[in-house]
Formats: sequence, C-alpha cells, structure tokens
Amino acid sequence: MTTDYSRGLLLASAAAGVDEAGLRHRLENTRVHVSAELDIAGVVLALTVLVTNLRRLPLDLGLEVIGSDPDSPRGLLDHILELAVGIDADRNVTLSRRRAGAVLHVHLGTSPPDGVLVSAVPDGHGVRLRYPGNPYPALRAPGSGLGAVLTAAVLTGEVFKHATGLRPEAMRVRQTLDFCPVTLTEDPGVVTETPMIFTDTALVGGGAIGTAISLILRELPSAGRLVVVDPQTFEEPNVTTYSLGNVQDAQNGLRKIDLIKRELHGFDVTTIYGTAQDLLEKIDRGNVWWPKVVLGAVDSISARHELQRVYADLTLDGSTGGHVGTTLALREGLPTGPCLRCYYPLRDAQAGPSAEQLLHQSTGLAMNRIARGQLPLSERDLDGLSETGKRILAPHVGKPVCGLASLLGLVPDSRDDYRPSAAFVAQQAAALVVGALIARQTGTLTGAVRDVEYDALYGPYLHMIASRRPRPACACASNKDLIEQVREVRSSLIPRRGRC
Ligand SMILES: [Zn+2]
Repeated sequence: MTTDYSRGLLLASAAAGVDEAGLRHRLENTRVHVSAELDIAGVVLALTVLVTNLRRLPLDLGLEVIGSDPDSPRGLLDHILELAVGIDADRNVTLSRRRAGAVLHVHLGTSPPDGVLVSAVPDGHGVRLRYPGNPYPALRAPGSGLGAVLTAAVLTGEVFKHATGLRPEAMRVRQTLDFCPVTLTEDPGVVTETPMIFTDTALVGGGAIGTAISLILRELPSAGRLVVVDPQTFEEPNVTTYSLGNVQDAQNGLRKIDLIKRELHGFDVTTIYGTAQDLLEKIDRGNVWWPKVVLGAVDSISARHELQRVYADLTLDGSTGGHVGTTLALREGLPTGPCLRCYYPLRDAQAGPSAEQLLHQSTGLAMNRIARGQLPLSERDLDGLSETGKRILAPHVGKPVCGLASLLGLVPDSRDDYRPSAAFVAQQAAALVVGALIARQTGTLTGAVRDVEYDALYGPYLHMIASRRPRPACACASNKDLIEQVREVRSSLIPRRGRC
C-alpha cells in the first residue's frame, strides 16, 4: 500500500504557495540527514520522534549517531527504523556515518558538527534551538518526555521551512529559541517536576492532537486513571498526521481509543467509543467517574461546547488551525468562566451548524448515532424516525453515516474532513496542553487562566499569552448556580463507581 501524504502536502503547499505535485517532487528530492548525541538525556526519545515526524513527509532520510559506540545503539536504531517502516514501507531510512551530497543536516545535541543547518536539545520540559554560531548555555536539567517531543516537533518545523522552500514572509527563522511549555517563558529547565499520578483526567479526542498528548503522557514518568473518548477509527490519511499509529493499524481499522489505550500501558485507561455527549451520559448514569480535568483535543466548536458541559475543575483545550493549519493554541477553561463557550461563542462560528447537526435536524437521526460515522447506515437506524426522515435516508442504507450530510447536499463542501494537518504542529499544541497540566498539578502556576496562541512557522513569543475573563453574556455567568449544582451532584456520583 502506498502511504497517503495528502494532508501534510495540503498544509505544506498552502504554506509554500505551490501546487502539491511540485512540492511532492521537491520533498522527494530533498535529502535530510539527522545526527544525534545519544548520551544527552532526552535525545534518544527526541531522535525517535524526529525521525518518525520526518518520515511523515516524503523526504529522503539519513540517520547518524555521534559520540557512541556504533554498535551499542543497534537496538535503538532498529526500533527507529521499524517505526519508520510502519509509516512508509517503501522509503528507506539510510544509516550512515557521513552525510553525502547536498543535504539539510539537522542535529540533536549541544555540539553540532560542521555543516549543520540547525540543532536543538531538550532542557527539562523545554527546548533550546540554535543555528550555527550561537553556542548553547549549560543545560539546566535532564530532558523530559515533554521536552524531547517538543524538541523533535520544533526541529521538524525547521526542516519543514527549508525543505518546502517557504518564502521569507511566510515564516521566521530565529537564530536561537529557548522555550518552556510549562512556564511559557524563555527559561527551559527551571521547572522539572512532573505529576506522578494523574487523577481523574479525561482526554476527549483521539486525533492529531489527542495522539500527540498521548505520546507525551506515555513518555512522562506518570500513571493514573484516564478516560479516553473518540468516535472514530484510525484511517490511512491519519498515518502521516498523527503521532501514534502506523499503516497496519489503519488497515486493521483500529479504533482511535484502542490505539491510545495500547500505547498508554502505564495508565488505567477507560475507553468510550463516542463523543463528549456520550461521556456526559455515562458520568450522569454513574458508569464513569467524573473527571476533574478534561484535556480537549476536538476540532469543532460544537464539540468544545459539549466537553465544557462536563464542568470539570479545569478544561485544557488544544487546537490547530489558521490560514494554512500551522497556528496552534491552548485555552484554559473553568466551569464558571472563562469557559470554552467564552472562547468559542457560537455566533463566531462562521460555518453555522456543523454537518452533523444539519443531518440531525433534517432527518432526526440521533447525534450519538451520527458520531459513529464509519458504521454504515442500516434499516434499524431508520426505526423511530419520522416519515420524512425515513424517506430521506432510505436510499442511503449501507453507506457510511459520516458522508451522508454531503451526499444529501446539506453542506456545500465536505472538505471538513480534509483539513491540512501536520504532526509537528499538533505536537506543539499538545506540548502546551501537557505543559499546562504540569503547571497546574505541580502548583507551578495558580490563578489566572491562559489563552495562548502562536504559529509553528514563526515560533512562540513573549506576548502570545492573553489573560481571559468570563464573557458576561456566556452561559457560565448566567447559569453559575446551576453549574455549581450539577458539579455537586456529579461529585456525589463518584462513590458509585466502587459499587459497579
Ligand atoms: Zn463562558
């Protein structure tokens, strides 16, 4: 099977302003050489994530290990090559001691060899990046799983800028970058604490950001109870845009929740094959404990409103988007404001109701059935619908529900599912989400909620943080008493779990 690079190429061609075919040709003829100093803490993981990120683009890839006995990291190199083959079996990652020919050479470590384009290294939970001529300061702390994934994501972004030939006005190349996703400062390595036990956390959304969050959690010394919620299966185009999963998983039609559960072996994972609405129903029936923290990784405004109604103590919403899909954001929400509805009021939703809502309104098909979009429509689904609903849907029995809105002409363009996306952008959004989780759970940060946004092609900057206040017209302000009542009831439901 040929690996599907369409979504990454869509993002890259939009960013570079060239057509996808020309860009693909350019990338296939670009040789990227990766070298790494494996004796620096966090570099092994950063290298693994970097190579798999780069394999998600159709580049010509070479790999070199510096400062180690060439035979000792054999198991590691085999592991990395195996991951790369899982993404694209037709493209080899070559192992070499020397870079050859015209190449983009990127390096992980503080002693980059001559000829390197750019290098980076994790420091604690953060990243330090240097172009030649800019020495590294002494590292403050061993690189953590968060620091390593962020380092790989940032370095992939630098390769992306050069390999796609972005115009200078479409990006910024900074000679140095120092960034900590926990404190959101230019001082990585100051905060190194990690919450060892995550209590009562839910991850809603198992897409590009959800798999990136899971990858980071897997690589932190953490464990605990986690509910994972997603209504879809892992498909071929996801292989090149997600941070977990390979071609075989897509061919097996693995559910995204099961993919995440498989990877998070250190956690006590409960899966819900559905949406935030299904999570809410299970909480209120006492089937699932009420999460105190919700990590949001969904891609629509209506889904954000749904997960806000969990009324968790803290909601950390990660997102990507913008003109070409390289903008990323973290929004911290509280049950009584500012909440996600304050950040994403419905009147700002340019698209109006979602395709799913239109399908529901036109046919009466239940939203939780629509959420299981990959399952074909059956005769049984028509039971209980109005005559109108039956008449509209009967000709479509056997077709997947997810495409019905566009088949019925309810949406002008069904490219909603075909958004430009890249793993290195989603990983930076995920780093902000997990960074915020660490900041809150370790007490590094208390008080004001943060609204953070930057473009991965420009990098984080000092004034990207806005502080938010509740929107006076929002339901979180007008329904404050009701929300507190709901929270009280839900907290009393927790003991029921023990009797289940
Ligand atoms: Zn609100």
